Amino acid sequence: MDIKVPFRKPAEIEHMVLDLLHKYAKTKGAPPRPPIDVDDIAERYLKLDLEVTDLKELLKMPDVLGATWLEDKVVRLDSSLEGQEGRLAFTLAHEIGHWWMHRPIIEMEKVTLPLYAFEEGRPARPAIVCRSTRKDPAEWQADQFAARLLMPEADVRATAKQVRGTLPVMIPHLKALKGGSEFSPELRDFAGEVIAAGNFSNVSNQAMRIRLVDLKLVDDANDPQGRLLL
Ligand SMILES: [Zn+2]
Repeated sequence: MDIKVPFRKPAEIEHMVLDLLHKYAKTKGAPPRPPIDVDDIAERYLKLDLEVTDLKELLKMPDVLGATWLEDKVVRLDSSLEGQEGRLAFTLAHEIGHWWMHRPIIEMEKVTLPLYAFEEGRPARPAIVCRSTRKDPAEWQADQFAARLLMPEADVRATAKQVRGTLPVMIPHLKALKGGSEFSPELRDFAGEVIAAGNFSNVSNQAMRIRLVDLKLVDDANDPQGRLLL
């Protein structure tokens, strides 16, 4: 999405996620616990309509994963994500991030909206289109929001402590793993244990690996206390 958004520190994004979870908890009557039901947050709390459809065909974009039609209050997710619960939930959480953080800015017309040509009879132009190959600041913020929404810090920390006791868990050559997005058997196993014990059933192993690195619950066995390249 090529919209211009104000810079936000991770702590500000964290605050916005906690604000959403707190307000959602009031509606739900109980604090949400993993797996965080992002469908329910989107549909029941935010009153958004969700559709899984062939978005690549609809928007004529080969790399689109999700899009939000602000005026219609519709979020569409690409059907290629079906059957991949972690990626589907993450993409929805990412769209929720745009809705929660960026919609107010867009509605105040403080951003430049991308222009997309649409054919007659197609759904109204979406204001937010998310493509796997585009990573501008708005996209980065929405990814940060999604990770924090699906994997609340308190739940991840408590579960990591429960499964391993002593933290951080030392991982060989962690710094070479590019923030956990690359393969490491030790990190993959730790992420799998946290997912299972913490009931993070709608989170992919890769997303949890990145979160564990981000929360500094792992450290480099070959260079402990060094600065992790995030
Ligand atoms: Zn996006």
